[in-house]
Amino acid sequence: MADKNLKILIVEDEKAIREAVSAYLEQDGFEVVATTDGQEALVAFSEGGFCLVVLDLMLPTVSGEEVCRVIRAGSDVPIIMLTARGEVEDRVQGLEQGADDYLTKPFSLRELVARVHALLRRARVGGEEARRKLDFGDLVIDADAHAVFVRGSDAELTASEFKLLYTLAQFPGRAYSRMELVEKVLGYTFAGYERTIDSHIKNLRAKIGDDPRKPTWLFTMHGVGYRFLSPSAPSGPSGPSGPSGPSGPNADKAKEATVA
Ligand code: CA
Repeated sequence: MADKNLKILIVEDEKAIREAVSAYLEQDGFEVVATTDGQEALVAFSEGGFCLVVLDLMLPTVSGEEVCRVIRAGSDVPIIMLTARGEVEDRVQGLEQGADDYLTKPFSLRELVARVHALLRRARVGGEEARRKLDFGDLVIDADAHAVFVRGSDAELTASEFKLLYTLAQFPGRAYSRMELVEKVLGYTFAGYERTIDSHIKNLRAKIGDDPRKPTWLFTMHGVGYRFLSPSAPSGPSGPSGPSGPSGPNADKAKEATVA
């Protein structure tokens, strides 16, 4: 079964196929918006919120190829193209226009659903990988290499220092209490360990060259804990004034949305 609230756009002029595909995807838990031609599809897509598009190639008004091109110009949404047997040339063109996968008619509905899930999985993995490398200009955090580079040179952090910085930097502007950081960095909650976070922060600051009296990245929030801000991030260093930075309260929600 699909996760709730995942909405798929179907574009297919053949009624029988459109209805069968819609019914099958709905049965699998997706929300479905079914359209019959290219024009209608583009209008529906512009309303937003789609996680995937199932697109027939041969369509009245605006061709599938053109729909694909227009969608792709402004979105990375996965697109599965439906093609008739013998449309090899068109199919190749469809993929060149940015479709992610294709199915040749007649196809099995089970196979379509399997492809839908595979594409959604791939899109999700891509999103997670994108966050594995955080680039803040002078400061680059590479989770795969488990390394932090300050103006190109390795800061040589310990595992705990790395975890601490990576945790804070994933959501610039979000305030973390010492207790939260103990849990995330040391992996358990234990009252009395909060102060170890202070010494990790102290070492971290020394290694990345951040002056606590005039910080660039790591801000102390008195009575609360710490937060990360980046001068190169759109939110900017608004100072350690409170827990409600621009990306603060919604940061967790944003994470949930991409993992859903
Ligand atoms: Ca058609």
